[in-house]
Amino acid sequence: MNLQKQMLEELENKEIFHQAKNYAFEYIDGIEQKDVYPQEENLKKLQVFHEELGNEPTAAKDVLALLNDIGSLGTITSTGGRYFGFVTGGATPISLATKWLTDLWDQCGGLYAISPINAELERVCEKWLINLLGLPDGTVAGFVSGASMANFSALTAARYHILKGLGWDVNKKGLNGSPKIRLITHSQIHASIRKSLVLLGFGSEDIEYISHDEQGRMVVNELPELDNSCLILLQAGNVNTGAFDDFETVCEQANKAGAWVHIDGAFGLWAAATKKLSYLTKGIEKADSWVLDGHKTLNVPYDSGIVLCKHADSMINALQATAAYIIYSGENRDPMLYTPEMSKRSRAIELWATLKYLGKNGVDELITTLHENAKQLADGLKKAGFSILNEVVFNQVLIALDTDQKTNSVLQYLQKSGRVWMGGSTWNGKAAIRVSISSWRTNELDINTTVALFKEAREACVVYS
Ligand SMILES: *Cc1c(COP(=O)(O)O)cnc(C)c1O
Repeated sequence: MNLQKQMLEELENKEIFHQAKNYAFEYIDGIEQKDVYPQEENLKKLQVFHEELGNEPTAAKDVLALLNDIGSLGTITSTGGRYFGFVTGGATPISLATKWLTDLWDQCGGLYAISPINAELERVCEKWLINLLGLPDGTVAGFVSGASMANFSALTAARYHILKGLGWDVNKKGLNGSPKIRLITHSQIHASIRKSLVLLGFGSEDIEYISHDEQGRMVVNELPELDNSCLILLQAGNVNTGAFDDFETVCEQANKAGAWVHIDGAFGLWAAATKKLSYLTKGIEKADSWVLDGHKTLNVPYDSGIVLCKHADSMINALQATAAYIIYSGENRDPMLYTPEMSKRSRAIELWATLKYLGKNGVDELITTLHENAKQLADGLKKAGFSILNEVVFNQVLIALDTDQKTNSVLQYLQKSGRVWMGGSTWNGKAAIRVSISSWRTNELDINTTVALFKEAREACVVYS
């Protein structure tokens, strides 16, 4: 076998690339007919992948065929219009096409020296995001795998900055014996924040929880006296209700006291880029760090998370790595100064393409339409006699029947139907069906179909029980 010769032929005749393209187009064209979540019998077929790794190579065309014929049966149709699970987001055509093109470039996005185009587009995205969200000039952005890593990056910067202000260099002295950072939040904060805090050396008992209201928002009049040892963790978009904390009130108190405010806005912060919904994010510009995902609300392909920080020096000091072979380029942007990773995907390119394609008005329309579809679904379900447990301020809808048992059976029916998929949750002690409208592709017909399916499920479940 001459592997190199074979691979050169593959590059030259491009058959496998055409094959992949044909499969991909079939997939896109069939997305609305495909099961939204795979049926049990198709999931079982995935067992064929659990084989021993053979000694001999497999023909490239057979590798692709196996993935297409069997592997694609194990996909969920988050790029279609009726997948409402988690807060997954769809993918716009321009973002997918850009990802294809730039996958072939295979750029390592860590340094200007390894990918000038990625570094330049990161700089452009940083500027555009500051402008879209109305954040302070001088804010810096890091492009990471998702909001989890973005939260981790922001909190690393906050830890460095707060301890520095208390006369302690955490990079030199570590956490042993350091002054105490007060972590203040409410129990509706996202799990990824709690995980980041643990990764950063804090324990769950270090967190001071204050109350939240029935929508999951911080009860701000319970805020304790603040000072410059405080890190306050807020949220733009509760994963159940979609609710937003009161940034204006908290930031005003925090700013006076020199405390750091962090806002996890993985899917919700995009509301700031709309005319109709920006009232939800009032005051965010007074915070210190922000997190959002490209891969959720903005419908950029996975993976794409963004961290933004007002204190460029603290961010760079907290995340910088040095080694003799790393060549920082000085006046050009070096992406790894703003992220925990060194090598990384050049994901800012797809983010740039999506923003360039949409423009400010397109971003506004995309986000506002998600909200309007969520409202329409909630209205339709309410008319049909279902309870809506949340105020539908953004894209999340929580639905319940009169007993938890009925709620859970309706959810199971819907999940198995193949025609729609959504997850379950509990809200204020009650079982809930949790719908997230986060794909550009969802339209009025999808909403009406979903309302009809809810009614069908309720009838079927009454018969069974
Ligand atoms: C999804 C989500 C996260 C985690 O984001 P990933 O992109 O999955 O890492 C964090 N916070 C909130 C509010 C989220 O919705």
